[in-house]
Amino acid sequence: MDETDVAIIGAGIAGSAAAIALARRGWQTVLIDRQQFPRHKVCGEFLSPESLAMLEELTLLDEILDQTPARIRQASLALHGQRELQLALPGTALGISRFFLDSALHRRAADHGALIRTGVTASEVRQEGSRYVVELLGAAKSRIYARAVIVASGAYARSGLPGTSVRGEATKRDRKRYFGIKSHLKGMATGETVELYFWKGGYVGISPVEGGVMNAAGLLVHGEQAGAKGVLELLEHASRSNRQLQRRLEGAEPIPGTQAAVSPVLLGKRSSVWDGVALAGDAASVIPPLCGDGMSMALRSAALCAEQADAYLAGRIDLLDWQRAYSSAIRQQLARPQRWGRILQWSLSQSALTPFFRQAALAAPFLAHRLVTATRLAPMPVGSGSSG
Ligand SMILES: Cc1cc2nc3c(=O)[nH]c(=O)nc-3n(C[C@H](O)[C@H](O)[C@H](O)COP(=O)(O)OP(=O)(O)OC[C@H]3O[C@@H](n4cnc5c(N)ncnc54)[C@H](O)[C@@H]3O)c2cc1C
Repeated sequence: MDETDVAIIGAGIAGSAAAIALARRGWQTVLIDRQQFPRHKVCGEFLSPESLAMLEELTLLDEILDQTPARIRQASLALHGQRELQLALPGTALGISRFFLDSALHRRAADHGALIRTGVTASEVRQEGSRYVVELLGAAKSRIYARAVIVASGAYARSGLPGTSVRGEATKRDRKRYFGIKSHLKGMATGETVELYFWKGGYVGISPVEGGVMNAAGLLVHGEQAGAKGVLELLEHASRSNRQLQRRLEGAEPIPGTQAAVSPVLLGKRSSVWDGVALAGDAASVIPPLCGDGMSMALRSAALCAEQADAYLAGRIDLLDWQRAYSSAIRQQLARPQRWGRILQWSLSQSALTPFFRQAALAAPFLAHRLVTATRLAPMPVGSGSSG
């Protein structure tokens, strides 16, 4: 029988960051993921400037910089066939693969004493008296008893896990169904730009990551791919929908083994950080991927959640205090960028609006800059979630 202080379900960005924060505060921490690592994951791999301070706080920034990530200083938008629009980014972002980043987070969590169990799926969480039971599937079919549980299982966990009902509501609200694809590419000119290509059926972002490689990741509307199957066929189909993207991909060579897909991707509003236990990262709330801020939201929610979990485990607060304080911190810090992120996503996906958007951005660049800035996380308020 495994007993621990805290069990964290999902070893992506949020779960791993929460594991580092709690293990280094001295709590026995078990971090569980159904996948084996390192693995390629659907993500633009654009690490926003806001993320960097949080990664430094986790003592991970130097290791990332040693990997010579790409530096990204501007965005270019090719909107529904309009001429490309260049926008300066508020700060320098890094391009780093999830293949590297997620495993680096695991290593740091393990350095602090966390036990990482990969290739193990959590199927249920239930309360038994003052502790929780986490049921596990797979080779390690067993259970973990924990004093606290954090679910950081990403946007689409299996039913039975906390957070499923929250996601069910979001599914009903979403009018369009998207799926996500990603592939690394070589043989392309790199630079310091994240390039976004839009058409009626979705968008693809191309940006540099470490090692002179480009990452292509995008969201496609379900049912508009005319029988294309597999990530590379879908990318090819996407490029036929936007001439600028097609030109950009000429001569690009997919790197074998780097392709990944995810379905569905829900962009509808949802924000619930509690479902019997704490939810963190995408399991709690999602910012539209084109904002490139999902990872920093995941890092922030992990820091805020770990701060309350620490107080709970130390007996300074009860479960209700944890729920209240965490919900309120998330509302204060994440709600605004998420709202503006949805507005930005909606405006850019409307082909009828893009000539106006483009004209407005050219005539008044500060307005476009303000809109982009409104989707960004503000720095972590002093004294909140950063100790330990
Ligand atoms: C197309 C696309 C492009 C994006 N581009 C960017 C970008 O450029 N920049 C950015 O910052 N964000 C981007 N995002 C968003 C970003 O990827 C997410 O916000 C981020 O990964 C959320 O981290 P997380 O830890 O909450 O979830 P995840 O990283 O999804 O991790 C969840 C983990 O939980 C595991 N898991 C799930 N269920 C179980 C279970 N039952 N038992 C055990 N383990 C389980 C999964 O295997 C997974 O490893 C993009 C997203 C998409 C779809």
